[in-house]
Amino acid sequence: MILKILIIAVLVTTSYGIKSYENYKVYNVYPRSEVDVERLNGLKNKEYDFWTDVVTVGNPARIMVSPAQDASFVSYMRSVGLAANVSIPNVKKLMDAQMQPASNADRSARLGSFSWDRYYNLQQIHAWLDELVTLYPGVVSTQVIGRSLEGREIKGVIIDFREGQRGENPRIAMIEGGIHSREWISPATVTWIIKEFLTSNDPEVRALAENFIWHIFPVVNPDGYSYTFAGDRMWRKNRNPANRVECTEDDNDLGNGIDLNRNFDYVWMTVGASSNPCSRTYAGPSPSSELEAQAIMQHVLSLKQKGNFLYYFAFHSYSQMILVPYSHVKGYEVLQASNYADMVS
Ligand SMILES: [Zn+2]
Repeated sequence: MILKILIIAVLVTTSYGIKSYENYKVYNVYPRSEVDVERLNGLKNKEYDFWTDVVTVGNPARIMVSPAQDASFVSYMRSVGLAANVSIPNVKKLMDAQMQPASNADRSARLGSFSWDRYYNLQQIHAWLDELVTLYPGVVSTQVIGRSLEGREIKGVIIDFREGQRGENPRIAMIEGGIHSREWISPATVTWIIKEFLTSNDPEVRALAENFIWHIFPVVNPDGYSYTFAGDRMWRKNRNPANRVECTEDDNDLGNGIDLNRNFDYVWMTVGASSNPCSRTYAGPSPSSELEAQAIMQHVLSLKQKGNFLYYFAFHSYSQMILVPYSHVKGYEVLQASNYADMVS
């Protein structure tokens, strides 16, 4: 008698690997009524990745759908009579193309080792910031305002064309990018602004560059940004696993991380924020629970002490919008900001 023994090898992986977006689709869905809008907002809790933050009547809502979700998504749209057209048939193809230098970019735009026809990872961006100190001695210095949960530096530059000559109440401004790590064009834009401040001959750019002490941070969510290169291109939050819950059968990572842009200690967990750790807009367990948000807040408070802190710009993608304080209120309430008219003019 022959005894056959079957050995089943179970591969246990401890890391998540690189998430593939092969055959993920993006649909454009057209809500025609408030009921449609509510229906679509209901889907946000089903772990669909909405590329449109705010769904409104008459405007296409862009929703990314995994191959596993596709059949039920399409049948739901049919059942409620919502038109859903495929806008991107395979997200992975776009991601692959994004890693190649852009052929239509201005290749003459260079500063040091940087050009603006490709995306750089965190190490490359930080190395470039160091390079600028050598290229512009006495004007550029680097600073680290804190560390991420995984120990990465939250690093930026100070640009000051009149160091030591500004008197007691210098004008100060801050620019921040990459708080939502998947929005790669944000750090790229912020590094472009650094280049413009250092090299442009345009009188208006020169005035802006030289009349302020600039504190500029291309990547304030360094763990998330690194993870968009090494783990999941579409990662938006930080990488804090402290509040993790199980979300879906086919994604054991979604329940990690906190949306740092929803974590600040100001009207926390009100508009556009979620208390569900599975959500991409999860605001965290409490205001300012995250090291990265704490570092930004502390730096802003210190700048208020150092002079006339006039501007704070945060860059996101994608949309064609300028948001001014306070965007948690509407209508007459916006006049809570006493300089509202200046900001929108
Ligand atoms: Zn964003």
